[in-house]
This record gives sequence, structure tokens and C-alpha cells, in this order.
Amino acid sequence: MERFVADRMLGKLARWLRALGYDTLYLGGAGDEVIRRALEEGRILLTRNRRAHPWLRRGRVLVITADDPREQLREVVRQLRLSLAEEALLSRCLACNRPLVTADKEEVRGDVPDYVWQTHADFRRCQGCGRVFWSGSHAENMRHRLKADFSDL
Ligand SMILES: [Zn+2]
Repeated sequence: MERFVADRMLGKLARWLRALGYDTLYLGGAGDEVIRRALEEGRILLTRNRRAHPWLRRGRVLVITADDPREQLREVVRQLRLSLAEEALLSRCLACNRPLVTADKEEVRGDVPDYVWQTHADFRRCQGCGRVFWSGSHAENMRHRLKADFSDL
């Protein structure tokens, strides 16, 4: 599975890639750190800077041209022919990029709204930031939007 590091212009794109299950760093800081992580960890650099980093190995940089984050996601998926596995959707924390682990329903009580706890069975927790995610309207929405966006691929 490809891994990415997004430069500071591409925070929303980073979240969408995480939603698809792709390991995507978003540092939001200096360019040098972004490049260092790309090289050291074998990540594909996503950048909006056309002049960027000619010394990085060909194919390891993708220059993003679209302004809209969903269009940007289409660019990445098309250019790199990424797979959109259903089971990978929402397998990674949108906020901090860590993989989510299945959480026991009893264990998340109090960490999610009551109505969510009462009406859902499948919960996942981020081991980094502790956020709890569940298959619900937000996840379904995202799934529908992704499906619509990529229906022609
Ligand atoms: Zn997290």
C-alpha cells in the first residue's frame, strides 16, 4: 500500500486519503521536514509546488494541480491508480493517521453521544488520540461521496 506525506497546503487531501485507509502524514510545518520524512520513510510526496524537489527520485513526488480537496483526491487516485478497498475505508484516524482498532461497546460508553451508543454496535478507537469512530451517518456519507466521486474509475 502506498504511503504519503502531504505538504502544508494539502491538509484536507491528507484527511481524505486517511479516510481511504492510506497512511498519510501531514506535518503542516517546514518543507525540509516533509522531504526528510518522504525520503527516510519511502513516502510519496504530495505537493502543490511545481518547482518542488527535483532531486527526489522520479515518481516519488506528485504535484497536485486542483484547488478543491475532492478533486485533489481524484488526481492522486488516478495518477497512482490507488485501490479503493471497501474494508480499508475508515480504518485510520482522520485526525492523527494512526490505525483504528476495534473497541468493545462497553468500553466506549461515555466517549460517544448516548444516542450513538444506544443505536450502534461497531466502534473503533484511535490508539493515538483516543477518538472513537463508528459506522454511522458520517461514515456512510463519506462512503457515498467517495463512491460518487470515483464512479467513473
Ligand atoms: Zn487519532
